[in-house]
Amino acid sequence: MVITYCKNSQGVIYPYYICSGRHSKREKCDLKAVLIEELEHRVEEIYTRYSLPSQMRTLLEKTLVETIEKNRQQFDGEKASLQREKEKLERKQRKLLEAHYGDAIPLQISLLLCAMVLSSFVYHGCIICNV
Ligand SMILES: [Zn+2]
Repeated sequence: MVITYCKNSQGVIYPYYICSGRHSKREKCDLKAVLIEELEHRVEEIYTRYSLPSQMRTLLEKTLVETIEKNRQQFDGEKASLQREKEKLERKQRKLLEAHYGDAIPLQISLLLCAMVLSSFVYHGCIICNV
């Protein structure tokens, strides 16, 4: 398609799309030239037909916002639970270190217990309190 300009009897110029084969007369094409303004209007009509209706858009937005909020609350809950677990493990770790420094537990056993506390937190949940 190429753009061509036609002038009417009053001297007004109208831009058209026309088949380049027809325009150059290389092809025997019978596709009519289309006024650019008319083509743009048809594109707008098609766009309107394929746009979401206002009520659908509102409903979709409401559903998405509710879903995001629900997921956020769930993630906030999980995050708070993990934070409590972390603090609990840090307290246990501190107690083990205090017991070690008070010579109640030998160093190697303290380190082993600390490693168990930390690995249980990472992989399985706490093995000491079974939470
Ligand atoms: Zn053509």
